[in-house]
Amino acid sequence: MVWQPFKKLLFDLKKFAWNKLCEHFDQSSIEKIVSIPLSNSPSSDRRAWDLTRDGRFTTKSAYVGFIGQHHVSNNVIWKHIWRTKVPHRIQLFAWKTLHNAIPVREILNHRILIDNPICPRCDGETETALHALITCPGLSQIWSSNPLLVCTAPFADKDLEAWFRFWVIPPWLFYPVPIKCFSRPTLPTQLMTPSASTSTPWKPPPDGWITVNTDGAWDPITKKGGLGIIFRNHNNNFVFAAAFHVVASTAEETEVRAIWRAIREALDLKVEKVMVESDAMVVVNQLQRRDFSGCWNTDAYFKDIELWCNNFLATAFNFVPRNCNQPAHAIAQWGKNNELDMFWRYPPVWLLPALGGDHTTVMN
Ligand SMILES: [Zn+2]
Repeated sequence: MVWQPFKKLLFDLKKFAWNKLCEHFDQSSIEKIVSIPLSNSPSSDRRAWDLTRDGRFTTKSAYVGFIGQHHVSNNVIWKHIWRTKVPHRIQLFAWKTLHNAIPVREILNHRILIDNPICPRCDGETETALHALITCPGLSQIWSSNPLLVCTAPFADKDLEAWFRFWVIPPWLFYPVPIKCFSRPTLPTQLMTPSASTSTPWKPPPDGWITVNTDGAWDPITKKGGLGIIFRNHNNNFVFAAAFHVVASTAEETEVRAIWRAIREALDLKVEKVMVESDAMVVVNQLQRRDFSGCWNTDAYFKDIELWCNNFLATAFNFVPRNCNQPAHAIAQWGKNNELDMFWRYPPVWLLPALGGDHTTVMN
């Protein structure tokens, strides 16, 4: 057998590398070093600053690191809340809500120990401020039937800060590079759906292109995550979908890895022109600039994406809002929750509602 000596050689190499690391580093440093993903492309080592996304040092990031990221992000929110043209009592209510100063049951239970922290309206979940004001099922009717037509489902796994950001901070203020979005409606209608449905019709790519929608799901406590990718063609046909379960350090890592996986599968499927769609706006903007630098846990994936992109006739990266990306989101959640890798040539039954909203047809 040929593989047996090869396996032994690999084992010896690993043992040698491990012993070398033990000579110079303590146990926790070694664990960090071996958890750095390796790129498939022969890229050289580089020093990566831990406090920026691309690993490049900036004095601003060092300052933010010293005083705490949370402090700065709140400042941005406050600036916009106080600037918003609403009655002052609404601004105060927003301020109180973000400071955990409204008497919802979770907060009361924490401070004066009440009998039951469960929401009295739906009897289903703990009554947090987010639940009481936004995500309680009893409220979805109110949010979706008023003239604003807001779908609250995407906020179920977010926090209140995300909700206020949605209302008061235009996304383009954070991202100076223009958002390239293929023939999609403008922002307000993308983020607000006309009914309780969470899907917005999906727009197929031009003739000759394949679109891959990607998404990452991640649990910050267990660090377990899922990657979801779905391939569709210009006729709106379902071509292929896959879910993967992963362990990751950040939510952004899962988003980058989902795109990385999509490109790799596109190569295997011999796709010539690939359009990658993701709801990770910062990552998409970076790829649109053809900037392939990441921090310690994403750099290798970016380098692979850069290398593999050369094998296509054309590649494009587009941002899509979460509610235009429901099928990929559902697949990523499936991978995370089932801790399985799975490939589908035909869409699974549980994906049909998300695809129905997209009007995708199944290819025979
Ligand atoms: Zn409730």
